[in-house]
This record gives sequence, C-alpha cells and structure tokens, in this order.
Amino acid sequence: MSQILIIYTGGTIGMMSDPQTKVLKPINFDQIMDNVPELEKLNCKIKIHSFDEIIDSSNMNPAIWSQMAGLIESNYDSVDGFVILHGSDTMAFTASALSFMLENLNKPVIFTGSQLPISAVRTDAKENLMTSIEIAKAKKNDLARVPEVCIYFDYKLFRGNRSFKYNSSKFEAFRSPNYPILAESGVHLRFSQNDIRHPKENSELIVHKNLVNEVGVLKLYPGISPKVVEAILKADVRGIVMETFGAGNTTTDQWFIDMIKAAIDSGKVILDISQCKVGTVELGRYDTSRQLKEIGVANGYDMTYESAVTKMMFLLGQNRDPLIVKQLLETDLRGEITVS
Ligand code: ASP
Repeated sequence: MSQILIIYTGGTIGMMSDPQTKVLKPINFDQIMDNVPELEKLNCKIKIHSFDEIIDSSNMNPAIWSQMAGLIESNYDSVDGFVILHGSDTMAFTASALSFMLENLNKPVIFTGSQLPISAVRTDAKENLMTSIEIAKAKKNDLARVPEVCIYFDYKLFRGNRSFKYNSSKFEAFRSPNYPILAESGVHLRFSQNDIRHPKENSELIVHKNLVNEVGVLKLYPGISPKVVEAILKADVRGIVMETFGAGNTTTDQWFIDMIKAAIDSGKVILDISQCKVGTVELGRYDTSRQLKEIGVANGYDMTYESAVTKMMFLLGQNRDPLIVKQLLETDLRGEITVS
C-alpha cells in the first residue's frame, strides 16, 4: 500500500471563521480530518506532520523552507510521495524554492491549498486535497508519474517553479502560461507524460538547505528616478531581480546604464526578467536591451518572478562568485526556464 506524508503548514484550507469577528484563523489538522471522512477511503497510508506554528502563508520564510526540505529528506525513503498543505498567497514561492533545494527528486512533492476553508459548504479544499494525494501516489512501472515539485489547484497540476498566483477570488488561483500543465483531472486523471521531468537514472536526492535572502527587486516604470534606482542598487544585497519591460527592455538613459554597470562591477548579480507574464526575455533583440547584455546583466528568459527570487536565494547560498551565479541563473536547473 502506498504511503503519503502530508505536511500541514497552514493557509485558508485549514482556517475557520471566528463567529464573532468573522476573521479567518488557523485550525489544527485533526479538525481538518474531521471534515474529510473520504480520506479513509483512499487506498493508502497517510502520515501527518503538522508544523508547530500553523501560519497564513504571508508569513512564510526561507527558514521554514529549509525545515520543509529537511522533513522531506528525513521521510524520503519511507514514503511514496508528499502533499504539502500551504496557503495559496506564497505557494508559488515555496514550490519554486523547494524545486531548487531538492536536486534529483524522484518522488512527487505536491503543494495544494484552497480558496475556501475545508469546513465551508462550497469549499474547493476537498477536491484539491484528494486529487493531490492521488497524484502523489500515482505510479507507472513502479516509478512515480510526476517526480517534481508541483502545485495542484482547481483540477490542474502545474510545475511549481513555472506557476504564480493569478486570481485571489476564483477557484482557478494559479496559472503557468510559459509551460504546459502536467496533468488535468476530470472524469480521468490525465498526465502529460512528455512535459514531466524525470531525474537521471540512479541519481541520489541532494538536499540544499542554505538559502541567502540578500536579494533586492528593481521593478521599472517610465519615469523612475536616479535616486530610486540608486537606493535599490546600493542596498546591502548580493543579487537584484530587475523586472523590465516586454522582451527584457529598459531605458537607454546613460545614468541608468552607468548605475547598472557600477552595481555589476561592484560584484552584484542583476537578473533581467520581464513584467510580462507570457513570453521571454531576449537580450539584444531591441536596442533597449543590447547594452544590458554587454555589461553583464543575466538573462532570466521566461522565468517567473517567484522562481527568479528563490533561484537567486538558492544560488547565492551555493556560490560566492557572481560570474558563476550569473551563469547558473541562465542555466535550466529544474525546468524553470526555456533557454532559447
Ligand atoms: N491568506 C491565505 C494564505 O496564503 C490565502 C490562501 O490560503 O488561499 O495563507
């Protein structure tokens, strides 16, 4: 019989409305189980790990990501897959971070949650939870069907590091427009076999727990002033995610290029991702990105913002040399970018 570890971190799925104030507050896992008697009917053994502090995912942080990775490591040999119950607000960050932290993963790690609490009559929590467990235990020829860190929500399975929270009021909370969905659930559970990544045969899981949060974000807008750009570039961080226009473009004003160059020369890594949710950065396609390429800005291709921030944290934790960080940012490590 398959064994699944459910890791409960919090989120709306496990919240209840306070009768007086109507504010949503976390409940414990036993109260969740009381709402899903169907769990008994699944043909698998379920182990539960509930974090001591049940949180709204807006309070998520890299220290908890390391604890999660540690839990996966210590239970890796004894279970077939993992389901992580997590708030949807920062789920894509956690799923992206975990995808980098778990190298050579060959078991499913499925994040899910819900838009309505599990106790609500019209809740989306039950379907999300039950199908996530089905996916976590799904095998073909004795191998996991989806040995990836994923998000399952509203009948769709997404690669974690390709997705982002798109809607805060519909059940369709996530999208991954730059990569196909990995499975869809309906009358049948259909896997898109060709889009699913598999680790190299016989490779051992390597867990990287050291993330460095010395990351800044520079989101551009027409009219951004030198003092705002300078404040961000001079912050005491080692990496900056720069959210640019269209295919990776920025102003060509000399002051701007000079400041970016000075930051790179001082040892900072600058990663160019687009404010567009669909499409890719193409450094050098327009004159407005040619100089960025020449001065050593890293190409983020079609990476999501969530992946960019967490990949930067991961790589800064692995490497001191900014040139190596740049080179690895531009390399497809876990299916997070399409290098064109
Ligand atoms: N605020 C909640 C959280 O992210 C929202 C959710 O779970 O959907 O924890």
